[in-house]
Amino acid sequence: MAFLRLLFRLGMVAVMLALLAARPAAANDHTVPSIAPACHAAAGLGTGASAVPPRARWICDNSRWRSDVPAVWLRFEASSWQGQDLPRYFFTRIARFTSITFHAVDADGTTRTRQLTETDGVPFAGGPVFQLPLPEVTRDTTMILARIEAPHSVPLLTEARVTHDPGEAEWTQIDMMLLAFVMGMLVLPLLFDISFFVVLRERFVVLHAAMVSAMMIYVLTAGGLASAFITLPLALMAVLAPLSYAIGAGLSALFLSAFLERGAQSRLMRRIAVGTGWFTMIVPGFFAFQFAWTQPIDDRAYFITFLPFIFVISAAVLEAVLRGSRSARFIAVAWTPIIIASVERLLRGLGWHVGPSSLDQMLYVAVGMEVVVISLAIADRFLAIREERDAALTEAKMLEQISTRDSLTGLMNRRAIEARFDELLTQGFDTFALVDLDRFKAINDLHGHQVGDAALVACASAIRSSGDRDAVAVRLGGEEFVVLLRGENTVERAEALRQAIPMRIAKEVPGLDLPVTASMGVVVLADATRHKMVFAEFYARADALMYEAKASGRNRLTYERLTVFNAAPEGRRDGEERAA
Ligand code: GH3
Ligand code: MG
Ligand code: MG
Repeated sequence: MAFLRLLFRLGMVAVMLALLAARPAAANDHTVPSIAPACHAAAGLGTGASAVPPRARWICDNSRWRSDVPAVWLRFEASSWQGQDLPRYFFTRIARFTSITFHAVDADGTTRTRQLTETDGVPFAGGPVFQLPLPEVTRDTTMILARIEAPHSVPLLTEARVTHDPGEAEWTQIDMMLLAFVMGMLVLPLLFDISFFVVLRERFVVLHAAMVSAMMIYVLTAGGLASAFITLPLALMAVLAPLSYAIGAGLSALFLSAFLERGAQSRLMRRIAVGTGWFTMIVPGFFAFQFAWTQPIDDRAYFITFLPFIFVISAAVLEAVLRGSRSARFIAVAWTPIIIASVERLLRGLGWHVGPSSLDQMLYVAVGMEVVVISLAIADRFLAIREERDAALTEAKMLEQISTRDSLTGLMNRRAIEARFDELLTQGFDTFALVDLDRFKAINDLHGHQVGDAALVACASAIRSSGDRDAVAVRLGGEEFVVLLRGENTVERAEALRQAIPMRIAKEVPGLDLPVTASMGVVVLADATRHKMVFAEFYARADALMYEAKASGRNRLTYERLTVFNAAPEGRRDGEERAA
């Protein structure tokens, strides 16, 4: 559990880092400013500078941003870089688009144009951003116009900037450290899941591991951390981030249904939750691809098709909490921050409110926290399941005992000896001594059943040579017992046991007027390990000998030595030697 404490501490560190990273304007807090567009407008026809929208169509405040149009114009004005280095690069948040055309327009009307496509975009380390080089900007340049063709997301427009040095636009060390921490928070639970699975083999552990993996891809691509290690194509980063988020969310709905205790979720809710899980992986998952033909709707569609997930998951957790589920309480703690952060991100994604991308940090931390808390919940469940399993094992052992032991005397019962008989023969138990108490009915009749029971218990003690690995005592039923013996002088040892019975009963059951004796029928099989003889055959033989003992006056032993040739047809026994 030291491991869990470590996870918890990591979570605390991440929260502190997130608070630092999400402080206002953290990403723009640089010496060389990144310049935001002064105005934006939905596109007119054509891509040339002559197609620039008329004055009336420009929106010059931070409102009415839309990505569901064929193209969007952005206008950067020279007044915003006066007295500073000239802008050389354009950068913005990663999303798909087809091309961006830049026009650097000088005072005398000279225009330098540069058209670049999605494949020219270079994601750079630090933030979910990519950059493009601008056409030459001079001191005579009055404005830079950028026409973004088929934009697939609002933040692609709202977070567009021009700058002299994109290095200055990179995220701060704190931002990157935070992401690295979140990754650490995700890696540990994954290892945790693997070790759990080895012991538990529960479906929910696999679902959790899959969910954590999806979230790792999300943090790597949406957070931009991947660019610190490899340069992925812009389109791949743009697709992987929303796709992994949709898959992770969908899996978490499946996880919920698999993880909740039995009875914590109604059947209807389970169906809805599982259905919503698949829906979320498939539908928002599809819009994550940002195909050219879905461009007018995919940004909105992605976020809107996420709404059922948020509602259903909240309802499902609420239902389980109300039904008294312990797991659901963990999940409620784990998912509340993520749902709040997702709703914020959703509103920002829809352009309903504009905020810096550093607000995303909240979501990453929420994702990390979620995974840590769920790991705690799995650990908690693990302990519960183990306790349950231990209890079941104890019970199974008890049942096994009950089914193999005689309840009155505690000796092995007939079922047990029959099951083990072959094994005992191979272990060399070659002597089968059948014991029957003499005139036992009279004891019951004279003293009652309770005294009779006590005599049976005393008899069992007499023949149970505890610690003797060469004798096994069994109660076959009634006042009939069997002792199996191996080693030297088995007949003599059987006789000694028989003689011990009356003394033991007399000692343990006071008030009997006559000694309770026993008769024995003993069969000794020569070379028992090499021959197969079934229990019933031994029993029949011994019973016949017993009958002889009873007939010739009781309180005695009759025995027989058998040599059985295994190859002989069943029932044919040669070389019998009889003695009485
Ligand atoms: P003998 O074997 O010497 O021929 O005479 P017996 O009186 O022992 O004859 P039998 O085997 O027919 O009777 C067995 C009696 O054992 C019948 C029953 O009253 C008694 N008995 C069987 N099982 C139990 C038991 O679990 N508790 C008690 N108290 N008596 C039992
Ligand atoms: Mg008897
Ligand atoms: Mg009997």
